[in-house]
Amino acid sequence: MENLWAAAFKGNVPEILMDCCGNQEAYNEKRQVFNRRFQFRPAAIVFCESTEQVSEVLLLAEKLGYEIRVRSGGHDHEGESCATDSIVIDLSKMKKIVVDHELSVVRIQPGVIFKELVPVLNDNNIGIPHGTCGTVGIPGFTMGGGWGPWTRQKGMCCEGLVGATIVLGDGSIKQLTENGEDNQLLWALRGGGGMSYGIVTELLIKTFPLPPNTIKFNVVWTGSPAIKVLELWEELIEPDQNYNLLGTNLKIMAKPYDGQPLETSIHECVFYGYYAGTNEELWAEMDHWFAGLPPTTINIPDEDDKDDLLDFSAWDRISTAIRKHNLEGFNNVMFIPPDLDEPAPHKISSRLVKEEGLGDEGRKNLIRSLESPLIHEEGNEAGVHCYVTLGAITGHYYANYKPEDHPLGSAFPYKKRPYTVQYQVWWNTTPEDTELGVEHDVYRYTNEALDWIDTCRNADFPQTEGSFISFKDSSIPTRNYFMESYEQLKNIKISYSKDPKNRFRTRKTII
Ligand SMILES: Cc1cc2nc3c(=O)[nH]c(=O)nc-3n(C[C@H](O)[C@H](O)[C@H](O)COP(=O)(O)OP(=O)(O)OC[C@H]3O[C@@H](n4cnc5c(N)ncnc54)[C@H](O)[C@@H]3O)c2cc1C
Repeated sequence: MENLWAAAFKGNVPEILMDCCGNQEAYNEKRQVFNRRFQFRPAAIVFCESTEQVSEVLLLAEKLGYEIRVRSGGHDHEGESCATDSIVIDLSKMKKIVVDHELSVVRIQPGVIFKELVPVLNDNNIGIPHGTCGTVGIPGFTMGGGWGPWTRQKGMCCEGLVGATIVLGDGSIKQLTENGEDNQLLWALRGGGGMSYGIVTELLIKTFPLPPNTIKFNVVWTGSPAIKVLELWEELIEPDQNYNLLGTNLKIMAKPYDGQPLETSIHECVFYGYYAGTNEELWAEMDHWFAGLPPTTINIPDEDDKDDLLDFSAWDRISTAIRKHNLEGFNNVMFIPPDLDEPAPHKISSRLVKEEGLGDEGRKNLIRSLESPLIHEEGNEAGVHCYVTLGAITGHYYANYKPEDHPLGSAFPYKKRPYTVQYQVWWNTTPEDTELGVEHDVYRYTNEALDWIDTCRNADFPQTEGSFISFKDSSIPTRNYFMESYEQLKNIKISYSKDPKNRFRTRKTII
């Protein structure tokens, strides 16, 4: 196959790693996707460096009879950017970022990840609605919708996608613009999921001027009823309330069922937030926000320590080794460990709260879902972490969203939903964990934790509906991800992607 590849390229031959010959150490490193629950052995990984090369590899893979996978940041929760015996079109070497101040857009190649993009944007005093995790790729994030610290004030990232370069199924290259003839494809890329419509080799995303000061903070409750914390958080994110709370999510840890009444049941809760303003202003808001439910701890970084703004440690994970060695009991969530972006095995499932909100019954359903005989305190101590994260969608942007101001609109179907409900289980098996002998303990609890995710997915929870494609769970029917956009997305793929053999297909693509 090696010679075939070399002969096939018109221009430079890209770097290729194969599952048979050459550098097997590099191959083994590069075949790994972020979710270590998956171990795939692609036939070849091709590191394209230009749109033309992507087109050539796409056509060649077909000629050679291989399925393709497309990978930018590799953070797909179901590992769909890699597969055994496939050819992986890896875009991680395409790393150009060009800021256009005149048009207020940034042009981003698909290999760029957030920890590379955000410092460049900061240097230019501009922002986009980015995500929370530094190693996530911009294409998968944006095409999936793109929820993050700016969502309340600026909307999902996909709303600002104003152009793209895409390679279609026949190898042709298209420039998509809002007013162009193929702008339906651009609509589909705004929240219609990755992979389905073609291979995106450049994104144009609208920028906004950064506020003079932003703060990332977290607030922890360890002894309060979770239902009260949830109620308070829901009040704070109400549309057109707390404009300067740019974005927030609330994490509530799951626990073994202990028979406590739901109204008084205590779970560890962490409110993560991004705020536009000074520390003084934030402290003043907090006096007001939390007067009726004082938190255990409030963590606000030092105003002079600007590095904290670039600290992208994921909000959702805690290192087992650190948890086990340094921390006891509930307070562990305060600690922000340095190795959060290491790939780790996990499983996610999600729902969206209906427009009218959870109400009392829905809040009880949510807390009930977090108390289960499938969760074990020993499992938590061993490093199997089960929890839900609620990500605020509602806020200034969607409260004031008028379709006439957005003629093209977007495929993202959840503009009126207050927040996402993301059930998660992560288990850490880092080298440190293995050295400490915790890996063995971890595997005693993972099956039941995965069963817990299944019960959450299947629970009767009528105050919720749908699911968020970026929190991909392959057991959820595809229609549920896209709701009212589903039929249109299928038609767009059929009409515009020039992909009659449906080679842009994985388990959760649109068809
Ligand atoms: C630790 C972690 C934190 C996260 N945090 C957030 C968050 O804060 N907010 C949020 O909204 N989501 C978040 N996510 C979810 C994330 O946005 C999605 O998993 C997203 O799809 C990842 O994009 P990627 O480019 O890194 O992944 P990849 O695995 O490379 O791609 C994801 C999907 O898109 C396809 N794809 C990738 N590149 C292209 C391309 N150039 N053209 C066409 N199709 C392509 C792939 O084939 C695959 O189907 C997080 C995920 C992880 C693992």
